[in-house]
Amino acid sequence: SIFQSRGPPFVPPPDDVTIPQFILDGIGAHFTRLVRPVECPCFIDEESGRAIYLHELRQRSHQLADVVKGRWDISPGDVVSIYTPNHVDYGVIAWAVQRLGGILATHSPDLTTDELVHQLQISTPVLLIAHPGNLATALRAMQKVRISRERLVILDGHEAPDSRFSSLEDLFASHAMYRPHVEHTFKAGEAKSAIAFLCFSSGTTGKPKAVAVSHYNVICNVVQVATFNRIHEDYAPAEKRRFRVGDIVAGVLPLYHIFGLVINLHLTLYGAMTVVMAKQFNYENLLKSIQRYRITHLNIVPPQAVLFCKHPLTKKYDLSSVRYCVVAGAPMSGELAEQLIQVFPGVQLGQGWGMTETCATGTMFPIEQWVGTPGSCGQLVSGTVAKIVKVDGTLARVEEPGELWIQGPQVVLGYYRNDDATKETFIDGWIRTGDEALFKKNGDMYMTGRIKELIKVKGYQVSPSELEGYLLNHPDVADAAVIGVPDDYAGEVPLAYIVLKPQVAAAVKKDAELAKDKRAKLYKHVSSIASRYKWLDGGVVFIDAVPKSASGKILKRVLIEQSKQLPPRA
Ligand code: AMP
Repeated sequence: SIFQSRGPPFVPPPDDVTIPQFILDGIGAHFTRLVRPVECPCFIDEESGRAIYLHELRQRSHQLADVVKGRWDISPGDVVSIYTPNHVDYGVIAWAVQRLGGILATHSPDLTTDELVHQLQISTPVLLIAHPGNLATALRAMQKVRISRERLVILDGHEAPDSRFSSLEDLFASHAMYRPHVEHTFKAGEAKSAIAFLCFSSGTTGKPKAVAVSHYNVICNVVQVATFNRIHEDYAPAEKRRFRVGDIVAGVLPLYHIFGLVINLHLTLYGAMTVVMAKQFNYENLLKSIQRYRITHLNIVPPQAVLFCKHPLTKKYDLSSVRYCVVAGAPMSGELAEQLIQVFPGVQLGQGWGMTETCATGTMFPIEQWVGTPGSCGQLVSGTVAKIVKVDGTLARVEEPGELWIQGPQVVLGYYRNDDATKETFIDGWIRTGDEALFKKNGDMYMTGRIKELIKVKGYQVSPSELEGYLLNHPDVADAAVIGVPDDYAGEVPLAYIVLKPQVAAAVKKDAELAKDKRAKLYKHVSSIASRYKWLDGGVVFIDAVPKSASGKILKRVLIEQSKQLPPRA
């Protein structure tokens, strides 16, 4: 029989509330909500140990909304861009903007000027929030896209005051000068169409696009994951519950990415948990924090799982407080999963699968499995339907691989101001994921490959066509194709196949030193334009021609096969 898998039944949350109303104010609360005692902090700043409580988040989000409205007159639908590392005020900024009906665009703090320019051209923000650490890049990009410097606010600016710009603390200090704002509210159904966040993803092809995430998408995904405390309508027995009041979560995922944004900001608040927020991931700091704060929950990506299994420091710390660990964002092999289970004996542990376009979670290891099946991404979360479409367009049967298509309330609205890309990916209420997968009879999903071009380096997205674009701009390059090659730690790293212009190619063929020099120059060329994780660490290989189909499409599969014959990297 044809296979179509369904997650457990879904009790929909309200569709007439904003994210801050639902998450902070408890308006329209769903039965899955856990109630936070006043003394239980929402966030702890990993570095300083400062604790932040729910009433402060409410107050700060209102104050900031007043100032932003008063100074920049933000209207519903306007975009504010955030270009900062993780911070305990990250959520406050999002919810302040959303209380005004605005949209928060989240940009990686490590973007280079060119990358930020590309993203700002799409998000066209009325305000940009940057950090002292990337202020110079922010200013260069703002100049290029002609955003006035008066529209810049610096997070943590009070630590390195710069009289030219307002810091976030200045804004809070000035709030009494502004009249209280009128909070933006929704009519029935409006949460489904109003955009709350823009997060960047290259999708199945091309350069990064802004994914339009609605208020309802986030609220639903939080409820879908929180449902794992329950078996249908009933609470699981206390000792089986995954999320409990007062649980302590390691905040090491970047918040600009959907996994961190939905799970570490919104699910944790909704579930009355405390997040130990790390500015950026550092393995030793994470180990120290687990011991110091008695962390119970780890939401991590596969390279972090590798560190837990292989790093010599792991054994020096007391990890006995950990009760739950989910690994997602990129493939984790069954072998690695087995090793991780050894590091965390007795812990509820498994994988999840998701993508920016499914507003984080599509599958999770189910509550019936204390430890998820190693190698499997788990099962569909509630309210979610999947079908597997074979190359010939017919539907697969159980255990047959094909492209994964997903339907559910967490599937996003589409790509912001990009109808062509939206139409290609979002079809008749389904999203085609570009992932190849199969389902076992019990509902366990396995990733069997990737149909889309996307490369995942340490869980981060690398768009091959973006790198090919940079390479084609180099004067020596006639043609270029980028693929991902396996890497023990990063999962994959980018490798470039380059066709040199005829004269250079002829010279390089005769002179091995020159070839080495040209390879190093191309590596440097990409390194000077792109974020660190996009560098060509898989190598640069010269070829005579890029294999292409009759229609001119690069035959990546042929190159992936060829790359298996390359000598191992040093
Ligand atoms: P992103 O939008 O950055 O979250 O990237 C989504 C993509 O990451 C998916 O389409 C998959 O290709 C990959 N991915 C996420 N989770 C998993 C997983 N558990 N196993 C394999 N690939 C995954």
